[in-house]
Amino acid sequence: MSAPDSAIRQTLANANLQLAIYSNTGRLKNHRSKAVAPDRFPEYQDLRTRAAAIKRHTLAFLDVYLLQLEHAVNDNGGKVIWASTGEEAADFIIQLAKDREANLIVKSKSMTTEEIHLNDRLAQHELETVETDLGEYILQLAGQRPFHILAPAIHMTRHDVAKVFNEKLGIEHDTVIENQAMTARRVLREKFLNAGIGITGANFLLADSGGVVIVENEGNARLTLSAPKIHVTVAGLEKLIPRARDLPVFLDLLGRSATGQPLTSYTSIVSGPRRNGELDGPEEFYVILLDAGRTKLLADPEMRESLQCIRCGACLNACPVYRKIGGHNYPWVYSGPIGKVITPQFQGVEKDPWLPFASSLCGACAEVCPVKIDIPSLLLKLRKEIVQANPEDRRYFRIWAWLMQRPGMYALAAKIGRALMGFNIGPLAAWRSERDLPAAPPKSFRDLWKQRKK
Ligand code: SF4
Repeated sequence: MSAPDSAIRQTLANANLQLAIYSNTGRLKNHRSKAVAPDRFPEYQDLRTRAAAIKRHTLAFLDVYLLQLEHAVNDNGGKVIWASTGEEAADFIIQLAKDREANLIVKSKSMTTEEIHLNDRLAQHELETVETDLGEYILQLAGQRPFHILAPAIHMTRHDVAKVFNEKLGIEHDTVIENQAMTARRVLREKFLNAGIGITGANFLLADSGGVVIVENEGNARLTLSAPKIHVTVAGLEKLIPRARDLPVFLDLLGRSATGQPLTSYTSIVSGPRRNGELDGPEEFYVILLDAGRTKLLADPEMRESLQCIRCGACLNACPVYRKIGGHNYPWVYSGPIGKVITPQFQGVEKDPWLPFASSLCGACAEVCPVKIDIPSLLLKLRKEIVQANPEDRRYFRIWAWLMQRPGMYALAAKIGRALMGFNIGPLAAWRSERDLPAAPPKSFRDLWKQRKK
């Protein structure tokens, strides 16, 4: 049950990468702390409680709200597509692109589409998909997956970006960030104008009005949903909230928790195709509701709490483990504390059983989560499942339980353990190669206790 050691060691040994992760997550973390400080935002804790309650309620009545959303989207002239797997979602888009002869697709940042490897699936059918979020665009050129659920290229410096642009776009090596942004803007503007389909994710889906809410800072999502003739939203079932009037609760929390902004630069709410007399907007409007394991999670009354996540990224920035090992050492697209909870549930606990154990359970994630997900408790539940399924681990815990019930044996084992602490042999050597083991104090607790009693 061990993590991908060599890759993690490489990350830890890369001083530039360490600096990039630590300083960038630190910056986001500080912005968040200031934005939610009681003197600046006294309603913060109340809003967290309300947001968590709304999400809990929505998940409890998800079947009702999903049907309500479908009716509202239909009434607005759009169409809901139910996809039980990523394959089904991709198949719908592939067929749509073929029917409409749309070979170029623009896309705004969406972790849900990352999750189902949508770009790869479309590429297999010779459909060109272009990421239009600056960070995602850089990663697409570099052939990398997101490093962070909010800031996908958080690990890259301007020098890294200059190298990628030089190699992939053939432009002069230029490390000025403004020039790099202008280069991306020039390339992407052409793509927006020529794309037949625009694909976005959704931060929220409004059941009462059929609205798709997209929150962003660059304006690329707004162009993606309005420039091409066809707009497709790919969203997980859990993105639903019951009413448009619930939205301010989440908007107040999301921007502050993510980047420390009271509100992000663009908040788009789109609820259907262009109507008669409207000058812009898509002619066709589809919402793909993706299950891909979510209903299985929903069926577990404890674990379903993880579906409350609004992907703000605050728990990643607060996590001492993420801030050392970064995002690419996590086995799936979702990294950090929430990734440790979601990944085993979507991919099976047996696949990467080390994941829920890669946490100190310090609780920093739960403290910053705007929807109050108790990540440490969920990790403990996953650990229990893994240990129960693993006979070797159960044996260790049985030995431990046996010892704890026999004080004499326990004292003897503790003595041997204290003596071994000074040696670097066998499995101890491997364990100590990554950890500083403090020297054992001259007297054990038992010795001190005995002394005190005397
Ligand atoms: S678990 Fe909470 S803090 Fe982490 S990304 Fe989700 S909403 Fe944000």
